[in-house]
Amino acid sequence: IVPMRLQRFLARAGVASRRGSERLMTSGRVRVNGVVVTELGSKVDPSVDVVTVDGRPCSITERSRYVMLYKPQGYITTMSDPQGRPTVAELVPSREFPGLFPVGRLDTDTTGLLLFTTNGNLGQELLHPSRHVDKHYVALVRGVPTRRELDELRGGVMLEGGPAAPAKAEVLDERDPLFSVVAPHGAGVDGGGNPNSVVGLTIHEGKKHQVKKMLMAVGHRVLRLHRDAFGPLTLTGVTEGNWRELNKDEVNALE
Ligand code: URA
Repeated sequence: IVPMRLQRFLARAGVASRRGSERLMTSGRVRVNGVVVTELGSKVDPSVDVVTVDGRPCSITERSRYVMLYKPQGYITTMSDPQGRPTVAELVPSREFPGLFPVGRLDTDTTGLLLFTTNGNLGQELLHPSRHVDKHYVALVRGVPTRRELDELRGGVMLEGGPAAPAKAEVLDERDPLFSVVAPHGAGVDGGGNPNSVVGLTIHEGKKHQVKKMLMAVGHRVLRLHRDAFGPLTLTGVTEGNWRELNKDEVNALE
């Protein structure tokens, strides 16, 4: 927020309308840093000046913004890339909502739900492992996981840095609506003619390449990855490459 006219500041702070704020000023009820200001052209810098009306301080607090993006492939999860590659910042209203940042990451080739917020506290909190925010993924993988492999995932499969937390894991039926999201033309076969499959996985950890590593650890390379749920949020009412703001219920469910 940059310096602005005092009456505009008061209006933005919800004290009164622009005209009403002008009247408050001319009647001597507004002070800036303790000094009465009646001049209508006066400017204030909201980041340093203390503005009071009848002795009560007022401030512009922008309300926090919450945006879900249906991320397409080919975009890096960062708000700026020194190398100029496509970033998710191009797909969300980063100018209208300054300070918007992604909560966690999706790989460049991963599609699906990516949450953004200007609420730094909530963003940090949601990423904290102790919050155990469940994320649901669908993965097109080479081969078909056996019951034993699924059980390994469910028990907490061993990765390089230690065991992954137990996950929910299942092989999805072709009729599952999520199946076609990662396999629109069917799951296909590998080079040897063996069928591929689509796996649904719920995890609450968010380490780098977590899902790909977990599936690789049981012998199945991920060919295509999509996240369809983040905690209570699902990708309803938003199409690939687009964003929408969360509604009140969704924000409450997150907090
Ligand atoms: N796990 C991955 O491997 N990639 C993602 O993008 C998200 C989770």
